[in-house]
Amino acid sequence: MQASSAESEFDVVIVGSGMVGASLACALADSGLRLAVLDSQPFAAPDAVDGSAADLADQAFDPRVSAITPASQQFLNEIGVWDAIAVRRCSPYTDMHVWDGDGTGSIHFSATDIHADLLGHIIENSVIVAALQQRLRQSIHESADITLLAPVSLSGLRAPTTASQGTPVQIELADGSRLTTRLLVAADGANSTVRELAGFQTREWDYEHHAIVTTVRTQFPHRQTAIQRFMDKGVLAFLPLRTSLQGGRDDQRHCSIVWSVLPELAQALMALDDAAFARELQAAIENRLGTIESVDKRYSFPLRQRHAHSYVQQGIALIGDAAHTIHPLAGQGVNLGLQDASVLAAEILQALSKGRDFADLRTLRRYQRRRIGHNLGMMCMMEGFKRLFAEQPLAVRWLRNAGMAGLDKTVLIKNHIMRSAMGIE
Ligand SMILES: Cc1cc2nc3c(=O)[nH]c(=O)nc-3n(C[C@H](O)[C@H](O)[C@H](O)COP(=O)(O)OP(=O)(O)OC[C@H]3O[C@@H](n4cnc5c(N)ncnc54)[C@H](O)[C@@H]3O)c2cc1C
Repeated sequence: MQASSAESEFDVVIVGSGMVGASLACALADSGLRLAVLDSQPFAAPDAVDGSAADLADQAFDPRVSAITPASQQFLNEIGVWDAIAVRRCSPYTDMHVWDGDGTGSIHFSATDIHADLLGHIIENSVIVAALQQRLRQSIHESADITLLAPVSLSGLRAPTTASQGTPVQIELADGSRLTTRLLVAADGANSTVRELAGFQTREWDYEHHAIVTTVRTQFPHRQTAIQRFMDKGVLAFLPLRTSLQGGRDDQRHCSIVWSVLPELAQALMALDDAAFARELQAAIENRLGTIESVDKRYSFPLRQRHAHSYVQQGIALIGDAAHTIHPLAGQGVNLGLQDASVLAAEILQALSKGRDFADLRTLRRYQRRRIGHNLGMMCMMEGFKRLFAEQPLAVRWLRNAGMAGLDKTVLIKNHIMRSAMGIE
C-alpha cells in the first residue's frame, strides 16, 4: 500500500507496526490526528485473528512468545484488542517456579498468594500483532484517519533543529517517496533505523548470551506454571502454552522455551539433531516435565543490552525496543514497550485536550520523564540477576542460595516482587 502525494503529510508517522508501534497507533486511532503506520514487513493477513479460522490445535506455534503482564493486558483491553487476543491461543499462568540449578535455592510465586486469578498470559507475538493490525483496519473502516504502508522501508530523514522548531520531520522511503510529519515515532525495534538516522546515542553491551527459542511437547502437563532454572551456563525457561481456543480442551503439554547460554554453547546446541537437543533440554530442566517428546524448529538470537541516552528530540520519540532492549530472563521487554506506548499516547492526548502542541519537545519530555527511570531500573535489575548467576566464587553462590531460600519465606517482599513484575505496583 502506498500513500499518494496528497496523503503524504501526517501528524504522526509510526515506523514499525510490531507489538509496540501498532499498539500506539490503536491508542491514537480516535484522536483525530492524521496517522501513518509503516513497516518493512507486510501486515498480517486480515483473517489472521479470526477465531472461526482453522482449528488452532493443528497450527504450529510462533517460536516467539511474550509473557504479558496484567498491566499490559489492561492497556491492550483499553485499546480494544484484548478480546481478539483472548479468543486465540492465549495461555494464562498462575504460578512461577524459579530455582538455582547449581545450588539449593528456589522461589515459588503463586497468584493465590496475592489473591489474584493469574500472574499473566503467555501469548505468541504473531497473535498480538495480528490482533492490533486487525483493530487498525477496523478503525480505518470506522473512518479513523490512518494510512497503513507496508512493505516499505525508511531510508532517510531530516529532523527539525531547535532553531527550526515547528517545521515538520521529512521522511524518505526506500522506493523514493517522501512523507512529512509533525511527530515521527520510532517503533522499529532493537536495530532501529530511525534511532540511527536521527543520531540518538545509546549505551550498549553484549550480554554474551544467545537465546535459543522453540516450542516443545512434554510428557507431563505444565499445570499453568512457568518454570525457570538459573545455571552458571545460562538461564532456561519453560513457558506454558495452550493448544486450543479459550474454553477448549487442552492437554497442557506444550511449552515455549527460552534458553539463554554462552554463544559457543548456543552454537553447539543449535547443531544437534532434534533428538539430541531434546535430551540436553530434558537434562537441563532436571526432568521436571518428564520426557521432551518433540521439538519444533529452533531459532537463536544474540542478546544485547541497549538503552538510548534520551528517548526524544525535536519531532522524534523512541518507544519499545528502539529505546531499550533487555535480557528476556524476566520476560519484561515488550511489557516495558507497551507501557511506553501507553504513556506517550496519554501525553499526546492530554496535550491535544489542553490545546498544547502534541509534538512539542516539552510534551515529548514529559513522556521521557515518566518512562526512562522505570525502564532503566528494570534493566539494572536484569543485569544484576544475570551477573549473580554467572560463574561465581563459592561464597557468592552460598549467599545466592541462602538469599533465594530466605526470600521464598519472606511473604511480604515476595508478594511485592510479584506485583512489580505484574506491573500492578
Ligand atoms: C528470545 C526472546 C524472548 C523474549 N521474551 C519476552 C517475554 O516473554 N516478554 C516480554 O515482554 N518480552 C520478551 N522479549 C522482548 C520482546 O520480544 C521485545 O521487547 C518486543 O518484540 C519489542 O517490540 P517492538 O514492537 O518494540 O519491536 P519489534 O517487535 O522488533 O518490531 C519492530 C517492527 O519494526 C519493523 N521495522 C524494523 N525496521 C524497519 C524499518 N527500517 N522500516 C520500517 N519498519 C521497520 C519490523 O518489521 C517490526 O514489525 C523477548 C525477546 C527475545 C529476543
